Amino acid sequence: MKYQYWNPELETMPRPELEALQLERLRTAVGWALRTPFYRERLPGAGIKSADDIKTLDDIKRIPFTTKNDLRDAFPYGLLGIPKEEVVRLHASSGTTGIPTTIYFSREDIKRWTGYVARCVYGTGCTRDDVFQNMITYGLFTGGLGLHAGGEEVGMLVIPSGPGNTARQFRLMQDFGTTVVHATPSFLLHVESIMRAEGVSRDSIRLKRAFAGAEPYSEDTRRRIEKLLGIDVYNSYGLSEMNGPGVAFECQAKDGMHLWEDGYIGEIVDPQTLEPLPDGETGELVLSCLCREATPILRYRTRDLSAFYTEPCACGRTHRRLRRITGRTDDMLIVNGVNVFPSQIEEAIMAMREVGNNYLIVIEKEGVLDRLTVKVEVGPDIFMDDARPLNALRERIRKTIQASITINPRVELHEPGALPVSEGKAQRVRDGRPKDI
Ligand code: AMP
Ligand code: ZN
Repeated sequence: MKYQYWNPELETMPRPELEALQLERLRTAVGWALRTPFYRERLPGAGIKSADDIKTLDDIKRIPFTTKNDLRDAFPYGLLGIPKEEVVRLHASSGTTGIPTTIYFSREDIKRWTGYVARCVYGTGCTRDDVFQNMITYGLFTGGLGLHAGGEEVGMLVIPSGPGNTARQFRLMQDFGTTVVHATPSFLLHVESIMRAEGVSRDSIRLKRAFAGAEPYSEDTRRRIEKLLGIDVYNSYGLSEMNGPGVAFECQAKDGMHLWEDGYIGEIVDPQTLEPLPDGETGELVLSCLCREATPILRYRTRDLSAFYTEPCACGRTHRRLRRITGRTDDMLIVNGVNVFPSQIEEAIMAMREVGNNYLIVIEKEGVLDRLTVKVEVGPDIFMDDARPLNALRERIRKTIQASITINPRVELHEPGALPVSEGKAQRVRDGRPKDI
């Protein structure tokens, strides 16, 4: 196979040069970080008062970890390192209306980010001849605008369709000859059956490949989508704290995701001891962003479990590859691609007077999509046989939860004491989705 590189010099840079570049950029990023109130308080305690205190790449280990809680505590501007008038965009993590972790971008930041996304897109074989339908959520979530910009940079025709309205999606595909789509893997699994239901023949669309990410999926799921649709599926990994998509992506070898190491420094650590693990071993991925001045984030604990491959890739790129994400070290759930913390649901419902003392979050597969149900015990002064006020209450709970997590849940009301009480630690989540990773 002939592999194509967007930026051959950087993508195939020999490791010693790549590491020298990383060191230079890490020093720059530390300088940026020291302009934020958050790191100005945190770094000097670790002996880092200026970029000059970083002398080797190994010195990164002296930088304290940053967590999602740190980002929340620093909201809104504790991690802003440039004057507000130089900020041109903000983004946030998916499903986080209740827990703000906001990332700011300067004009240069957007350019750099777009460059990494373009590299990913081009590396899957896309060219300016392709028509790219971006079927992922636009808005605060980075997946929409991020891949949109990278697609345009490569010169593809980008259709900003966003998700939903499947009949219209197929019309767009037929009318404009879409060759590439971006969607969650759970949605892609669904596409073939929707096509059948809507009478859209495979011959009427020209689809060749898909970018699938935002949530974990297995190699089996990838193969299944590829077979159902007759396309190539590429795994796309990113997170808002590291700009969004464009952090790590599969090349045409489809065997692990290249982490763009000139833009991000990746470490795998033992989630308990936080000690570094050698390449090949599975642990928590820790990432430092070397390419964003507005919100510099160093040694971010992603909570995602992965490992670095030890063998070089057949494509000739020198940037190390990450294994498919196999899980998380915290209780974050990903429901149809949207991040949900059980605590968000708890905070939303427990603030309601009519809600009793117990609840249960249930996630199941319904077809190929995830279905979130929140079972809630009502308080003692609610009559369970009075349907009208009960329906109104159910609707209010549903809206409150949706306002907090952006997902529309199914809500079930139960009498006080009806839901199971566990003897030890409360079991608030029942995740019935098959674990096929
Ligand atoms: P967000 O900040 O909303 O973009 O969410 C980022 C999180 O989504 C990551 O930390 C992962 O847990 C998850 N995620 C994104 N892409 C993938 C992927 N390709 N495979 C598995 N999980 C993913
Ligand atoms: Zn490769």
